[in-house]
Amino acid sequence: MKTERSEALFERAKKTIPGGVNSPVRAFRGVGGVPRFIRRGEGARLIDEDGNSYIDYVGSWGPLLLGHRFPEVIEALRSVLDVGTSFGAPTEREIELAEMIRGAVPSMEMVRLVNSGTEATMSALRVARGFTGRDLTIKFEGCYHGHVDSLLVKAGSGMATLAISDTVGVPASFAATTIALPYNNIPALEEAFAAHGDNIAAVIVEPVVGNMGCVPPLPGFHQAIRALTEKHGALYIFDEVMTGFRVAHGGAQSLYGIKPDLTTLGKVIGGGLPIAAYGGRADIMSKVAPVGPIYQAGTLSGNPMAVSAGLAMLRHLAAHPEIYTDLERRAAALCANPPKGITINRVGSMFTWFFTDSPVIDWDTAAKSDKAAYARFFHWMLEHGVYLAPSQFEAAFLSAAHTDDDIALTIQAAHAFFHQ
Ligand SMILES: *Cc1c(COP(=O)(O)O)cnc(C)c1O
Repeated sequence: MKTERSEALFERAKKTIPGGVNSPVRAFRGVGGVPRFIRRGEGARLIDEDGNSYIDYVGSWGPLLLGHRFPEVIEALRSVLDVGTSFGAPTEREIELAEMIRGAVPSMEMVRLVNSGTEATMSALRVARGFTGRDLTIKFEGCYHGHVDSLLVKAGSGMATLAISDTVGVPASFAATTIALPYNNIPALEEAFAAHGDNIAAVIVEPVVGNMGCVPPLPGFHQAIRALTEKHGALYIFDEVMTGFRVAHGGAQSLYGIKPDLTTLGKVIGGGLPIAAYGGRADIMSKVAPVGPIYQAGTLSGNPMAVSAGLAMLRHLAAHPEIYTDLERRAAALCANPPKGITINRVGSMFTWFFTDSPVIDWDTAAKSDKAAYARFFHWMLEHGVYLAPSQFEAAFLSAAHTDDDIALTIQAAHAFFHQ
C-alpha cells in the first residue's frame, strides 16, 4: 500500500500544527505509523491522498451513522447556500430541530443548541451547578465528556491512548470539584454519596461508554445512579454525545428505561457538521439565560448549515426506524464468534474488540488489553483496506452505508490476522 503523499503531508503538517493533527487521537500515537490524510469519503468508504480505499469503521468518530456524503444531508446543505450561512438571529429550522430532538428523546423537554459535544457537557454541568447551588460532580474513570477543564480527570479516549491521567493546564481547584469513580461499581457510588451527598451537583455518565472502548452498563447500574441522585437532590446527566441516535433512535435512555434530568447530544445530530445540544427538564432549562441567571451563549450556535444537515439526518432516521434493526443484525454478524483471547463488547452499532480474554466492565479491566497486539491488528486491517480507530480505547462504528459485502471482507481480513 502506497503512503508517500500521507507521509509528506504529515511531515509538512507537523511544522505548523501540534503533532500534525487537530485532535490528538488522529495522530496514530496509540499504534505508531503515519496517519492517512483523507481526500474524500463515499458511503462506507474513505479514500486517502495516495488513492487507497478503506472500509471506514471510524465514521468521523461517530457522527456518520448514514455514511459519508449521505444524499439528503448534501442536498440540505446545498439549499442553505442559497439563503446564507449564518445570521446570529433565530430561524425556524432551529425550532424544528429542537422539536425533533424532543420528539425522539422526551426527557429533553427544552433544548439549547451549541457547537460541540465539549460545549454541551460544559454547559450542562454549569446548569447543574447553578440549579442545585452545589459544586461537586461525579464522573466515571474511562468516560470522556469532551475537554472540559473539570472533566479531564481519568478521561479515557485520547488521554487513555497517550497514558495521561490528569492533564497539565487544569487548575487543581477545578479538578478537585470532580470525584472519579470506577464504572459499573455501585458500592463506590454509594460511598461517595454517603460522604459528599449534600454537595454533589450532578453525576455525569456515558450511558454506554465508547471512550475506553465500548463498555456497556451492567444491569442495575443506571437504576442505582438514578435512585441515589434522586435521594440526594443531585442531577443525573446522560452524556449521549456518542450514543444519541446511535444505539437507538431514543438514545441509551430509551434502551435502559432511564429518565435523566439533563442530556447532552452531539455527533449524529449534526450529520457530519459541528453541532451539539444539551437539554432536559423544563424547570431546570428555564434557569438558562435569557430567562434565568445561568449564562451560556454562542456566536454560531444554531448555525444554518449545521442545523440543516442535522435536520436532514434526523428526518431520515425518524422516517426509517428499520435502520436500527438492520444495524443491530449486521453489527451482531460482525461481532459473532470472537477468536480466542479477544473480548468483544457491543451495543447496537458501536463495538470494540478488546485484546484480553477477561470481561471488560470498567477502566481497570479495559486497561488489561494487550495494546501492542491491538496495534499489530490495526495495521494488518489497515493494510487490508479496513480503517479502524488507531487506539484500543475507542469504539468502532457500523453505518447504514456498510454493505453485507463490506462486513464479509472485514471478517475475512480479521480471520486471516488471527490465523496467520
Ligand atoms: C465525542 C464526545 C464528547 C465531545 O464532543 P466533541 O464534539 O468532540 O467536543 C463528549 N462526550 C462524549 C460521550 C463523546 O463521545
